[in-house]
Amino acid sequence: GAQQQELYDTRALQKLDSAHYMHPFTDHQELAAKGARVMVRGEGIYLWDSEGKKILDGMSGLWCVNVGYGRTSISEAVYRQMETLPFYNSFFNTTNVPAVRLAALLVELSPPQFNHVFFTGSGSEGNDTNLRMVRRYWELMGCPERQTIISRHNAYHGSTVAGSSLGGMGGMHAQGGLPVPGIVHIGQPNYVEAGRGMTEDQFGLAAAGWLEAKILELGADKVAAFIGEPVQGAGGVIIPPATYWPEIQRICDQYGVLLIADEVICGFGRLGAWFGSELMGIRPDLITFAKGVTSGYVPLGGVLVGDRVADVLIEKGGDFNHGFTYSGHPVACAAALENIRILLDERLVEQVAQSTGPYLKERFASLADHPLVGYADSCGFVAGLNLVRKKGAVVHDCEAFKPEQGVGMICRGYMFGNGMIMRAVGDRMIIAPPLVMTKAQIDEMIGKIRFCLDATL
Ligand code: PLP
Repeated sequence: GAQQQELYDTRALQKLDSAHYMHPFTDHQELAAKGARVMVRGEGIYLWDSEGKKILDGMSGLWCVNVGYGRTSISEAVYRQMETLPFYNSFFNTTNVPAVRLAALLVELSPPQFNHVFFTGSGSEGNDTNLRMVRRYWELMGCPERQTIISRHNAYHGSTVAGSSLGGMGGMHAQGGLPVPGIVHIGQPNYVEAGRGMTEDQFGLAAAGWLEAKILELGADKVAAFIGEPVQGAGGVIIPPATYWPEIQRICDQYGVLLIADEVICGFGRLGAWFGSELMGIRPDLITFAKGVTSGYVPLGGVLVGDRVADVLIEKGGDFNHGFTYSGHPVACAAALENIRILLDERLVEQVAQSTGPYLKERFASLADHPLVGYADSCGFVAGLNLVRKKGAVVHDCEAFKPEQGVGMICRGYMFGNGMIMRAVGDRMIIAPPLVMTKAQIDEMIGKIRFCLDATL
């Protein structure tokens, strides 16, 4: 933070903000009363606000700034591409150099069944693309009645009409209902909530069984696909038992159901692997990506299209009437190429797998001795803990806080006040730090979390 900070009139900015800017997922009366925090600069894992306060960003922005803030090589790559060719689309038999190179690189980095990439501007648009692709696939396969997509409660798959329907967020469905028909939801593999009386492994099989039960209820000949995040992120960092995903794969194989892995959070090293699917031992037919592909420097998303789907769409499909102005945007693709070069050259994915990820696991688990913490776990560089009123012998015997006590939000407030961003999902406190975080910085972060837990007590 040696850099001299520009001075901002925070009050004036906050006034303009609440007068004119409608924020995503925000209660504007509450925002107007408190005033938004104005972020102005970032370097590594730290942010600075308009008051000059330094903040440790435990969330990588919105789970996306994997290589950390302030990477001038990305801004230079973006600048060069803007100077050379700021825009050209890939419609009507045209293409551009960064998009071609990025598609080839993503195929190289992804599991072997992937040889094609469809680019979008965001993760939500990636999931819209999935929905259209799987339904189109089954039409082309001569099974037009195979249209239903099975997802999970509390899943987050985006905010577009299809994304919010695929997602399982009750709060989103409550405002206007499910806009896209033919999508159903099963339970999430949340051991703390639903695993009473079972070992984690037994619970993993039981939770996967909900998929089989739903397929049998609907009839396999009606089911197009199952979609899930390898580790549910916005739902509260729900890390499934080791038995869950292999059983999901077995069920999808048995009934011919396509498997979509939404890796918008889990991709690009977040779990200590290029893709979470590899870690979970699944072979998805489609992978949604966004966020970490550019570390959020420029918006970019897309779908890795596995051979099973791509071969049919390409050989039998003719025109696929779908695409976005910004599909394969050259500037976004240039940012992604440089971001991936950094991930590779600095061996950040290996570092999370072998060194800092295991260290975070050990340090984060140590928080479980705190009187407020009922359960703490992590996977790579995502982690979450449950705040409880009273601890029990096993996690299911812990006494929960009442929702109206809003303990998660109280704890989040202390974190913010103490220069650390940690998100609250109900009573679950979660982090997803930049992959560049060092062991010393992990210690700093754990110290801050402990301090704020003490304050919340
Ligand atoms: N899928 C998952 C798993 C996500 O976490 C998100 C965003 O948080 C999305 C999809 C939507 O991505 P976007 O916000 O880029 O549309």
